[in-house]
Amino acid sequence: MIYSRGSHGSEKRSRGIIFGPYFHARPRPRIPRDLAMCVTPSGSFYCSMCNSGAEQEPDFRQHLESKQHKAKVSELRYRNEMVTLGYS
Ligand SMILES: [Zn+2]
Repeated sequence: MIYSRGSHGSEKRSRGIIFGPYFHARPRPRIPRDLAMCVTPSGSFYCSMCNSGAEQEPDFRQHLESKQHKAKVSELRYRNEMVTLGYS
């Protein structure tokens, strides 16, 4: 179902930061959906493919951009494809 909101009404609320009794200055760490699989119970990040991890999201993203990680990903992808094709 497609939601289409009119030009009036909700615009202000979605754009501004909400202050008030329910505003928390320190939001709990949000976990990006694409990293949800890489988060450990302690809240740090871990890449099971490379066996390496990071405490902070930016550091972990840096890992995801690294040659080492990309090599692993393509290696894994290649293997998966071989399995899918029945070559394993
Ligand atoms: Zn990795």
